[in-house]
Amino acid sequence: MLIHGGTLVCMDAARTVMRGDLLVADGRIAALGPGIPAALAALPGARAPESFDARGALVLPGLVHAHLHLCQTLFRGLAEQSDLLRWLRESIWPLEAAHTEASLAASVRLGACELLAGGVTCVNDMGTVHHTDVLGETLAETGLRAIFGPALMDQGEGVPARLLEGSGRALEQALALARRLRASDSGRLSVSLAPRFILSCSERLWRDVTDASREHGLLVHTHLAESPIEGGEVKAAVGSHAAPYFAAHGVLSPRFVGAHGVWLDAGELELMRAADAALVHCPGSNLKLGSGIADVRAWRRAGVRCGLGSDGAACNNRLDTFAEMALAAGLARAKHADDPLAAADVVALATCDGAAALGLAHAIGSLEVGKRADVVVIDVSQAHHAPFATRDPYTTLVHAARASDVRLTMVDGRVLVERGRHRTLDPERCAEEARVEAEALVARAGLAGGVRR
Ligand SMILES: [Zn+2]
Repeated sequence: MLIHGGTLVCMDAARTVMRGDLLVADGRIAALGPGIPAALAALPGARAPESFDARGALVLPGLVHAHLHLCQTLFRGLAEQSDLLRWLRESIWPLEAAHTEASLAASVRLGACELLAGGVTCVNDMGTVHHTDVLGETLAETGLRAIFGPALMDQGEGVPARLLEGSGRALEQALALARRLRASDSGRLSVSLAPRFILSCSERLWRDVTDASREHGLLVHTHLAESPIEGGEVKAAVGSHAAPYFAAHGVLSPRFVGAHGVWLDAGELELMRAADAALVHCPGSNLKLGSGIADVRAWRRAGVRCGLGSDGAACNNRLDTFAEMALAAGLARAKHADDPLAAADVVALATCDGAAALGLAHAIGSLEVGKRADVVVIDVSQAHHAPFATRDPYTTLVHAARASDVRLTMVDGRVLVERGRHRTLDPERCAEEARVEAEALVARAGLAGGVRR
């Protein structure tokens, strides 16, 4: 496919922005720059490629969503006005424990409709304890690039028995799934280990996860330093905050991806940097749960790799990277009025830096010849972008663009959404399936108004 006539926002090291075309072949970016149609026409026996008109649009590497819980999409709007620990114990864990294979698949599909329509091409997803095979099969159906793994939890106040009892097997199943995917898949899907957070995981579990991550090269995806109340309970439970605990137990490594990090101090950031561990900023979730405001400028200044995510739909409630970019920029400005994050740095969080945080910088995150063709096209020709949409494309993307401006979402050279039409999912059917499954799930969980009474 030839994507022609757009403004290419490459997100390469030089931050190249140019008018031009992008040629996709065999799932990769084959060429980019001005004059590709003419070069193609000059080739002997050249076949005209399928083409996509990107005039009036920005062409970007696909958006990387670095912290997500697709199993929670069915819980959207069910658990409001809560803080982190109450929200988990009274609502989210009972709901996750009530998932069946069918409700989990419906939850994943519903989230994927929204993500793909909004230009997300790669997700780092924390599953629930059970049904990780179904999570992987459903992600495969959607066409998304994904790292996913079971949430691991083997202790903790308020954790339902059904989640606790699955944990021993969940780690074994994740390792088996990782072996299967390595043997069979194109590399689009891969497995992580996702111990939920310190309060739900024993020292033994952290050790097992750390050993398995090292042995099999798998990401460790977890939460840390999210809210002050959680921090207090962590300190009471293990005698220190999360980052020093992880450092002391060898959990931090280049394969570590920690969501939130709202309350990390300078010394803890230095532990993250020294281990080359990554953090994921989830500003919408942090605001809605009242957790606080992460200092992403300080993360970057400390040299910590970092990406951007929305977290799950139960605590945001949008799965919308554009909304998160605007929040990230605004909050950084409020924290550092004189020296905020540049708009280009915010776009980087959602593209090249997010890919690097997930260990995927060699394959995705920028428009460069040879990289996988994960590409999005964003229309900036409408009134809400006028009059200077392409003068500073980063500002346009962060402060004016909306998920509904996405015109093309492509993963591995395969078109998944084109001008609002999904190729792998039927959003109306997914929404209907979600309504049916969510009602049955709430009844199984025994929740009134989303909260266990
Ligand atoms: Zn989360």
